Amino acid sequence: MQALLKSQRRPGLELQEVPSPEIGINDVLVRVAKAGICGTDLHIDAWDAWAQRTIVPPLIVGHEFVGRVVEVGSNVSDFAPGDVVSGEGHVVCGRCRHCLAGRRNLCAHSIGLGVGRDGAFAELVALPMTNVWHHWPGIDDEVAAIFDPFGNAVHTALRFDVLGEDVLISGAGPIGLMATAVVRHAGARHVVVSEPNPYRRSLAERMGASRVVDPLREDLGAVQQELGMVEGFDVVLEMSGHPDAIRSAIVHMAHGGKLAQLGIPEAEVSIDLDAVIFRMLTISGIYGREMYETWYKMSVMLQSGLDIRPAITHRFAFRDHAQAFATARSGESGKVLLDWSL
Ligand code: NAD
Ligand code: ZN
Repeated sequence: MQALLKSQRRPGLELQEVPSPEIGINDVLVRVAKAGICGTDLHIDAWDAWAQRTIVPPLIVGHEFVGRVVEVGSNVSDFAPGDVVSGEGHVVCGRCRHCLAGRRNLCAHSIGLGVGRDGAFAELVALPMTNVWHHWPGIDDEVAAIFDPFGNAVHTALRFDVLGEDVLISGAGPIGLMATAVVRHAGARHVVVSEPNPYRRSLAERMGASRVVDPLREDLGAVQQELGMVEGFDVVLEMSGHPDAIRSAIVHMAHGGKLAQLGIPEAEVSIDLDAVIFRMLTISGIYGREMYETWYKMSVMLQSGLDIRPAITHRFAFRDHAQAFATARSGESGKVLLDWSL
């Protein structure tokens, strides 16, 4: 089969003919239809410091996908050839305290699809059956392709109650864009999106932001006044990982405010703990998705009118992967998809 590979310890990815994956008795083999490019894939392509200490070539990259089941192992009874599915990208151990208690997203031994094992930028991908999600009938195939990052957005957006609350989202990358639509759907009052990139600010407006802010030019305090906010943001979804965004969010939160931190900083970040203490803030780290509560919520919110499609801006055939990666890297894009149908 054709697959997009990190074949050597150096920058770049190569499209190569490789053997099809073999499945074990508990596995499901999926023919990939569409896949999404994530920041993780950009790091692996660029071969930055994180990639150099994490990735062992040869590795097929990619973890956001939708496809159809082609074969199942002998222990698998819940999936059958032809089923439309996506994969949860964290393969957990199944044996630790948290896994046994059903808190699989807290597993300390999870292995990333397309990071620690062969991924989905290929004609075929194999996964344990416990990592496969059945899509509900009528799902849009492009939306189904990005359930993994959509799940990051939903996990973060629903971490704290947003009904009637004033929400700040910092960073309008694909995940911040989807989160904007989610908190709007979940009943937030003001949804302020802070993002330096004008292309992405205009996408955030389309996703339902009440007000977009350029953090390099505008003061969040003035925006709060303009919107008639009495105190500060009740909930912050930090989706940039940028130190300035994290610090600014903390300064502009209400007493008792809650911050869900999804964005991954490049290095250690110092914050004003006094503000956290005396304003009694709660900060929660968010990693991945809850298995499978987040997946359930994604499915039912789509059925009840949530629309995240404007966050998908570019589509490429898999053979044009270099152009697709350049587009994702440029920032002049929302989510970029690769079509793997031949
Ligand atoms: P992205 O890099 O496309 O988006 C980040 C956005 O933040 C960019 O649009 C950038 O312009 C913006 N930004 C930069 N400086 C800013 C500032 N000072 N204020 C406000 N915005 C600023 O990333 P994405 O794919 O949307 O992912 C969002 C973040 O979540 C990234 O940091 C990513 O590494 C992280 N992530 C975390 C998990 C997890 O499980 N915790 C999973 C996926 C991604
Ligand atoms: Zn575990």
